[in-house]
Amino acid sequence: MTNLEIAPQQEVCPPASPNGTPGPCLQLWPEREVPLGGVRAMNVKRTLPQRGLPTIGAWCFLDSFGPDRTAMSVLPHPHIGLQTVTWPLAGHIRHRDSVGSDVVVRPGELNIMTAGHGVSHSEFAVLPPAGAEMPVQRGLQLWVALPDQHRHRQPAFEQHRALPVASGEGFTATVMVGEFAGAVSPATMYSPIVGADVSCEGDGVLPLDPRFEHGILVLDGGLAVDGQDLPAGPLGYLGTGRSELPIQALPGTRFLLIGGEPFGEELLMWWNFVGRTHDEVEQARDEWEAQTGLSDADTAAARYGLVRGHGPDAGAEAGRIPAPPLPGVRLTPRKRAVD
Ligand code: MN
Repeated sequence: MTNLEIAPQQEVCPPASPNGTPGPCLQLWPEREVPLGGVRAMNVKRTLPQRGLPTIGAWCFLDSFGPDRTAMSVLPHPHIGLQTVTWPLAGHIRHRDSVGSDVVVRPGELNIMTAGHGVSHSEFAVLPPAGAEMPVQRGLQLWVALPDQHRHRQPAFEQHRALPVASGEGFTATVMVGEFAGAVSPATMYSPIVGADVSCEGDGVLPLDPRFEHGILVLDGGLAVDGQDLPAGPLGYLGTGRSELPIQALPGTRFLLIGGEPFGEELLMWWNFVGRTHDEVEQARDEWEAQTGLSDADTAAARYGLVRGHGPDAGAEAGRIPAPPLPGVRLTPRKRAVD
């Protein structure tokens, strides 16, 4: 998926330090509807980044879409400096990218695209047979910031169709990335991180890495943590320093758990780019715009490459998402405010 905001704000995300995190806490950070462009805008709710909470570990972006019957239709667009993590909850998505991938991802399967120096991709809902109703679509898209020593690497794509399932006191969990409750995801990641899709009922205890900060997004049902309600909607920030998390869950509760070592590098996020400086992001934008109207061969040789099926020779499906204009103002640092 893409950040389709028509006028995205530049976001400077200051580095987190272990001293800058509050230790165990529970803070509710509200979801917000993001005005999206495009002909068939989707119902997207964003819970990361937040003003005051730019990252949780290296997780730097969290969008939820659906449940509804809107068909995702996202033309080729670029990324740098991040990994996209696509986790469908309902509906099937066809992913094509400039490293040659053309795959369908389904609920329970994970797509991870590593942008590195530059990649482009498209994402389309798999449509039903002619005359049939569009099936319900629902899912999550997350971004993970790449640390400096990996952010210029060659782009890559992985699909994992079978992920490990962990279980423990009152819960079962599909481990998307990293390690959780003794199960290790095969996904290639570049910083100490965890992501899991957890189901639980009644009382449970989650084992956590106390070096990590964590967040929970309730998908179905609801939780109580530290005697406070954590309902569906907001992102619950749990801080660092927890080796276990006792929870009380309503029947049928399901939630996303994300975490990682507090990210120690300042990030500059704008549109679909995760960089470090204004000039770097401006160059990334200019190089995407410079790919407009190129032949397929020239597109394939350019920074963001060619998403086959969308080039000038592709007919009705051809197209790309143009970059919005950069704002004319200098950047304003965004502070963590989680204490
Ligand atoms: Mn994208």
